[in-house]
Amino acid sequence: MQIDVLPAGPIETNAYLLTAESGESLLVDAPPAVEGAVRERLAQRGARLAAILVTHGHWDHIGDLGKFRGDGVDVYAHAGDREWIENPAIMAAFMPPGLEVIPGRVDRWVGDGEKLEVAGAAVEVRHVPGHAPGNILFYFPGLAAAFVGDALFRGGVGRFDLPGGDWPTLERSIRERIFTLPGETAVYPGHGPATTVMEEMRNNPFVGSGTAG
Ligand SMILES: [Zn+2]
Ligand SMILES: [Zn+2]
Repeated sequence: MQIDVLPAGPIETNAYLLTAESGESLLVDAPPAVEGAVRERLAQRGARLAAILVTHGHWDHIGDLGKFRGDGVDVYAHAGDREWIENPAIMAAFMPPGLEVIPGRVDRWVGDGEKLEVAGAAVEVRHVPGHAPGNILFYFPGLAAAFVGDALFRGGVGRFDLPGGDWPTLERSIRERIFTLPGETAVYPGHGPATTVMEEMRNNPFVGSGTAG
């Protein structure tokens, strides 16, 4: 699969477009104002969007979700963030003024340990709450890659001061659900550059071995 990184929106949220040899694509997250870049890349690759995998329901990850409604895509997400996805207006206090988010529609609510096949790729879902109650990661064993939303960043961790967030839960998610992936697994976060499981286990200032109890 080809991986295109398409950062978009007022706080540079990463969308990832994964395109299989078959010409089917998956989109991981749909940040505000990403629609044009996604359509352009699909056209360049001669691909069709088959599914959208939502890492969590914060506005900066679902801003353009509603714009793909007419495409016949299957949308996957965790029910922990259902209210934010279906009624994004409740997050208005956290959004830049003037940003309008069309409510999204989810076709398949998924949970920890679920194994999916999407656009011909095997995908394992792992629940990684603590930043958002419904944050999940999508692990592609065939790609040795995990798309983790805002749970873990290169050299950082997700905020845990937002509604439904807390640090002990986030720390447990990272240690039990991310650090148990193979060390060479590429970690693609919701913001900023990619990293690997091994790199963060060693050097992350919050959860790396230097800080482990
Ligand atoms: Zn978030
Ligand atoms: Zn985010």
